[in-house]
Amino acid sequence: MRRGLGADVAATVLDGKTMGTFWRVSVVGMDEGKAEALRQKVQAQLDADDRLLSTWKNDSALMRFNHAATTEPWPVSEAMADIVTLSLRIGAKTAGAMDITVGPLVNLWGFGPARQPVKTPDPQQIAAAKARTGLQHLTVINHAERQYLQKDIPDLFVDLSTVGEGYAADQVAAWLDGRGIKNYMVEIAGALRLKGHNGQGDLWRIAVEKPGDELGQVQNVLTPGDNGISTAGSYRNYYELDGQRFSHIIDPATGKPLTHKLVSVTVIAPSALYTDALDTGLMVMGADKALIFANEHNLPIYTLTKTDDGFKVRFSRAFAAYQPKP
Ligand code: ADP
Ligand code: MG
Repeated sequence: MRRGLGADVAATVLDGKTMGTFWRVSVVGMDEGKAEALRQKVQAQLDADDRLLSTWKNDSALMRFNHAATTEPWPVSEAMADIVTLSLRIGAKTAGAMDITVGPLVNLWGFGPARQPVKTPDPQQIAAAKARTGLQHLTVINHAERQYLQKDIPDLFVDLSTVGEGYAADQVAAWLDGRGIKNYMVEIAGALRLKGHNGQGDLWRIAVEKPGDELGQVQNVLTPGDNGISTAGSYRNYYELDGQRFSHIIDPATGKPLTHKLVSVTVIAPSALYTDALDTGLMVMGADKALIFANEHNLPIYTLTKTDDGFKVRFSRAFAAYQPKP
């Protein structure tokens, strides 16, 4: 969806697979002898995140909470409490457009660990799944030394898929910062964190992909600076059923996958968890509301909307600073 541009010969590139996708870290000016140790460190960290947050692994910490048929406080790690706290807060900011309790609907529509449905879910099924969602059903309890999650309905299903990559990108970036590394690009699939410059001494450049069936067509090139950036899109992860196209982003208000013409939203902010959570919420809002939200919050966003003969670009006021040079 977005990626670093060009073969950066002067940067050391480390990569691997995680969370059912890929990761890549580019570091400038690194001692090559330390590269393998760094690669292993990042891989181990991301594998640990996956064991924490995955809805595809039945024994992840998150899935153990989801399966627990209890409404009593459930002990979790500090990391889990922090991720859920931030996700609930961002969810509330978007008036529930981004909602990590959307899991039963994600599963009903076949975008989670449950299989793709063979026919379009009927209104009763949608209403039943929707009744099991809602930010108000999930609480984080923070004591000085212990943290808990608590649900007030036993069959809540928390889905952190939309914040996991961003969380992991922030974590790797913090670790690199702690090592005094000043020039890097961290990519955890669609969530990026950038700092400093690339191997040529220029700002890191990020390509926003042109939606469509052909891979790798560039719509625009951005220079986000020392920030996180991510893009949510409805054009890559979808299936067709009964002649309709269903994208993997669900509107929690209707209980159905998005059908409007907004195809992607790119968000820039200091934290990748924040951009990764918000891009999904902004997709749900649709272009008009997303741009109003972004201008109210001084948030740089870039949107692509499908038109009869191509795509229309619209961006928020704060985005002007990252606007590609003509
Ligand atoms: P992308 O693949 O476009 O980068 P993400 O992986 O960040 O998107 O987020 C999509 C996933 O988030 C879906 O597969 C689903 O599990 C979950 N999801 C779908 N709709 C919502 C929503 N409205 N709020 C929160 N999470 C959602
Ligand atoms: Mg997202």
